[in-house]
Amino acid sequence: MSDQVDSNSLGLRDPIGLCTDCRHARVIHSSRGGTFYLCQLSETDPRFAKYPRLPVLRCIGYEPAEEAEDL
Ligand code: SF4
Repeated sequence: MSDQVDSNSLGLRDPIGLCTDCRHARVIHSSRGGTFYLCQLSETDPRFAKYPRLPVLRCIGYEPAEEAEDL
Protein backbone atom coordinates (compact mmCIF):
# COMPACT_ATOMS: atom_id res chain seq x y z
CA MET A 1 0.00 0.00 0.00
CA SER A 2 1.22 3.47 -0.79
CA ASP A 3 -1.21 5.98 0.63
CA GLN A 4 1.44 7.94 2.44
CA VAL A 5 1.80 11.64 1.68
CA ASP A 6 4.92 12.33 -0.32
CA SER A 7 6.36 14.72 2.22
CA ASN A 8 9.88 14.28 0.90
CA SER A 9 9.12 15.81 -2.45
CA LEU A 10 6.99 18.48 -0.78
CA GLY A 11 9.85 19.27 1.54
CA LEU A 12 12.36 19.54 -1.27
CA ARG A 13 10.20 21.92 -3.25
CA ASP A 14 9.04 23.92 -0.25
CA PRO A 15 11.20 23.43 2.82
CA ILE A 16 9.22 26.01 4.81
CA GLY A 17 5.66 25.03 4.03
CA LEU A 18 2.69 27.14 5.12
CA CYS A 19 4.73 29.63 7.16
CA THR A 20 6.14 30.97 3.89
CA ASP A 21 3.12 33.15 3.24
CA CYS A 22 1.30 33.09 6.56
CA ARG A 23 0.47 36.46 8.07
CA HIS A 24 1.50 35.20 11.51
CA ALA A 25 5.03 34.31 10.47
CA ARG A 26 7.99 36.56 11.06
CA VAL A 27 11.28 35.77 9.41
CA ILE A 28 14.26 35.94 11.75
CA HIS A 29 17.79 36.16 10.37
CA SER A 30 20.42 35.05 12.82
CA SER A 31 23.92 36.50 13.04
CA ARG A 32 25.23 33.12 11.87
CA GLY A 33 23.36 33.39 8.61
CA GLY A 34 20.50 31.10 9.58
CA THR A 35 16.86 31.88 8.84
CA PHE A 36 14.07 31.01 11.24
CA TYR A 37 10.33 31.39 11.07
CA LEU A 38 8.81 32.73 14.27
CA CYS A 39 5.11 32.05 14.74
CA GLN A 40 3.59 35.15 16.32
CA LEU A 41 0.52 33.18 17.41
CA SER A 42 2.80 31.49 19.94
CA GLU A 43 2.81 34.72 21.94
CA THR A 44 -0.87 34.37 22.78
CA ASP A 45 -1.69 30.72 22.09
CA PRO A 46 0.32 27.87 23.63
CA ARG A 47 -0.81 25.47 20.89
CA PHE A 48 1.71 27.08 18.56
CA ALA A 49 5.45 26.64 18.82
CA LYS A 50 7.52 29.79 18.76
CA TYR A 51 9.74 28.24 16.12
CA PRO A 52 7.63 25.60 14.37
CA ARG A 53 9.32 22.55 12.97
CA LEU A 54 9.59 22.98 9.24
CA PRO A 55 8.11 22.29 6.84
CA VAL A 56 4.68 23.09 8.27
CA LEU A 57 2.31 21.15 6.04
CA ARG A 58 -0.88 21.58 8.07
CA CYS A 59 -1.69 24.31 10.56
CA ILE A 60 -4.96 25.46 12.11
CA GLY A 61 -3.62 28.97 12.50
CA TYR A 62 -2.57 29.46 8.90
CA GLU A 63 -3.89 32.60 7.25
CA PRO A 64 -2.54 33.75 3.89
CA ALA A 65 -0.78 37.09 4.15
CA GLU A 66 -2.68 38.43 1.13
CA GLU A 67 -5.92 38.46 3.08
CA ALA A 68 -4.35 40.74 5.67
CA GLU A 69 -4.19 43.49 3.05
CA ASP A 70 -7.94 43.91 2.92
CA LEU A 71 -8.24 47.69 3.13
S1 SF4 B 1 0.11 30.02 12.29
FE1 SF4 B 1 0.97 28.10 11.48
S2 SF4 B 1 1.50 28.58 9.37
FE2 SF4 B 1 1.25 30.52 10.43
S3 SF4 B 1 3.27 31.08 11.15
FE3 SF4 B 1 2.29 29.96 12.82
S4 SF4 B 1 2.94 27.83 12.51
FE4 SF4 B 1 3.35 28.93 10.58
